[in-house]
Amino acid sequence: MENWVNMLRSQYNWYAADRIAQYNQQFLQGNYCDIKTYSEACPITCFVSKNGATGEPWKDTKVDKDGKAKNPRRNARDIQITALPELKKARPWYAGIDSTVLQQNVKRLDKAYENFFSGRGFPKFKNRSSFSSFTYVMGVKVQGNKIYLPKIGWMRFYNSRPIPQGFTVKAATVRKRQHGWYVSIRIEDKTVPDYVAVALADVKSIVGCDMGITKLVHLSDGHQIKNPKFATNKKVKRILRIRQRRISRKQKGSKNRTKAAARVGKLHKKISDKRQAYQWKVASQIASRRVDAIGVEDLNVSGMLKRCRVKMDETTGRFLLNGQSRKKGLNRSISDASWSELSQKIEYMAVKSGKVFVKVNPKYTSQKCNVCGHIDASSRDKEKFICSACGYMAHADINAAKNIKKLAMNNIASMVCGDSAKPEPFGSKRSRTKSPRTKCKRGEPENPSNRDIKSEISLESACL
Ligand SMILES: [Zn+2]
Repeated sequence: MENWVNMLRSQYNWYAADRIAQYNQQFLQGNYCDIKTYSEACPITCFVSKNGATGEPWKDTKVDKDGKAKNPRRNARDIQITALPELKKARPWYAGIDSTVLQQNVKRLDKAYENFFSGRGFPKFKNRSSFSSFTYVMGVKVQGNKIYLPKIGWMRFYNSRPIPQGFTVKAATVRKRQHGWYVSIRIEDKTVPDYVAVALADVKSIVGCDMGITKLVHLSDGHQIKNPKFATNKKVKRILRIRQRRISRKQKGSKNRTKAAARVGKLHKKISDKRQAYQWKVASQIASRRVDAIGVEDLNVSGMLKRCRVKMDETTGRFLLNGQSRKKGLNRSISDASWSELSQKIEYMAVKSGKVFVKVNPKYTSQKCNVCGHIDASSRDKEKFICSACGYMAHADINAAKNIKKLAMNNIASMVCGDSAKPEPFGSKRSRTKSPRTKCKRGEPENPSNRDIKSEISLESACL
């Protein structure tokens, strides 16, 4: 499995390089080399394919009566997938990898490009730490505490959650983590009905969630959910500091240093496991409230994690204090709370329980008065909120949660007036949220793997 991951990483990077080369060429040359017909292209001056240099760009070489090719062009992903047999010829060791795994790997790159074209970052080359998994879509079998992975074989594993009756295995992802290998299995039962969401026009009650650090979530009904600070509490911080110091005292390149580093990694894994479990608990707690809709703020977490701007003394050219050392602790707390992951889980649980999930713009939610709507930064004094216009007094975060509730209600009301009054299926849930990033074509599933997610559950079990 270790070998496979290494090979697949190099395959991923190779295909990524192929696409980057093509992208640059197109970007520089525009449509000059865009070939729309079967006319011969000079291989020295231009590439035949628009999307990738490897593989056959044409689907069907047959020509119909009018002289036009049927189904003329493959997209970049299909071009690269059809090039796989050639890859296996040139590098025979790739034949040892299951073919669906190789295909899924190409699809993974294509997904990264799709995200890029819809406004996210440019796909990156993968290194050891950013690439540690592979996915099967066929042939995986589970029997008791044994699992069969094609081309690898039967092996023992810890079956943490047996597959329920009537479900078939759709896909399996094998992932390397700090302390061993894990497999998560996607299963499907077609007889399970889809989750039906409340119609937007019928939404009567709504709960707003304000995320924070001292308390993880404040709900608009006054409920608070505490933040255990898995990575930034005093005890864990001390253990991390000690274990980190043990690494730095070992000789570089020595076995003992690797061992010490593995111990730190194990601790990080434990922290992340605890956080995941807690977040699921919190999410299901929020989703089980008796409301029709849940409103969450759409935070730009990566923007909040930015470093402070550098300050420089203009006469001497020396750096001045810019508050970064103070911000560092806050940044760690923000990462530890991992709000965006929590909000994803809330969304998942909300959809599962038939509730509407709304994201709202968090601008001024913590400065605005919930009663009179007055916006003033001086209304807020740490945890207290006293409106400078009408004198309304409340806990600052609960005031914010109530503002989020109001915004979510407005969002839903405007959506009811618009064209999306009928409930949408889970696959196109994103069009419901009003964030600028999610420009999703209506009626189109976001990605093919999301299509049958509604009746699928993910199982995670530890391999030996
Ligand atoms: Zn007020």
